[in-house]
Amino acid sequence: MSLSPQHNSLRSLTYVPSCPRLCPIARVVTCSATTTKSRSSQNQLVIEPRLVSSPDLVTPNNIISNSGPPLPNDPTLQSTWSHRAWVASGCTTLLMSLAKAITGAADSHMWLEPIVAGYVGYVLADLLSGVYHWGIDNYGDASTPIFGSQIEGFQGHHKWPWTITRRQFANNLHALARSVTFAVLPIDILCNDPVVQGFVTACAGCIMFSQQFHAWSHGTKSKLPPLVVALQDASVLVSRSQHSAHHRPPYNSNYCIVSGVCNEFLDKNRVFEALEMVVFFKFGVRPRSWSEPGAEWTEEADETRPQPTVVH
Ligand SMILES: [Zn+2]
Ligand SMILES: [Zn+2]
Repeated sequence: MSLSPQHNSLRSLTYVPSCPRLCPIARVVTCSATTTKSRSSQNQLVIEPRLVSSPDLVTPNNIISNSGPPLPNDPTLQSTWSHRAWVASGCTTLLMSLAKAITGAADSHMWLEPIVAGYVGYVLADLLSGVYHWGIDNYGDASTPIFGSQIEGFQGHHKWPWTITRRQFANNLHALARSVTFAVLPIDILCNDPVVQGFVTACAGCIMFSQQFHAWSHGTKSKLPPLVVALQDASVLVSRSQHSAHHRPPYNSNYCIVSGVCNEFLDKNRVFEALEMVVFFKFGVRPRSWSEPGAEWTEEADETRPQPTVVH
């Protein structure tokens, strides 16, 4: 199917249920078709189906059969000792950084700057979580070096979002904990500046725990710890309502999963759309959000949940 760029709105097309972002894209593609080298079907933006199903979905920790989501007691959702070891090493490097921030602040009698740096790190972590999430939601596949398993894991998450609430703590965090260990340990060893350490502790800590914040945003209010609900309601952690918008068509907003504080700015100013245009015109790669949502992105019902009984 091809889409004429003259369309004012794509909402009327049944093929694309809701994708307002395609309108500016269509306009830009119209302009570019007259100024850039010829493409085989000029002035037409081809709407392609989203990713073709791969035989299996590979998560960071396991392989999930494409035939269905992991069951509640699936071993692929459980933590292993290697997962726990990576989370322990990540926490240790964060505590070393925090200790250096506190002792450095005490020695220099300088408390405000490390605290402000920590706040900046917390906000930046939210932004980085959004950029990373946007990247792996939109580009690459299971064969992509380094990020392939993460990409397929997040696509599985869009199909079966509730499974994240059943994933054990270390199973969910170990990949980020490993990255934090490698990134923060050299800074722990080489740097004694309390401002830098305050920034690193907050930023790396929020990035490492972002998958836990994400899991809580999929939780049921009555089953979450009251403190978590209070922090979500205060927008200290990403809220359930804000993240649920990410899991609704057209699946292209609210990417940030630490506090969600950056989401409004990024979505209102169409920052990711601008980045997608840069990537497209520089490398010719289309993000998945430009294509019509396929089965891989549409949430399936949780068949393991008890169904309400119909009384006749
Ligand atoms: Zn996503
Ligand atoms: Zn989610």
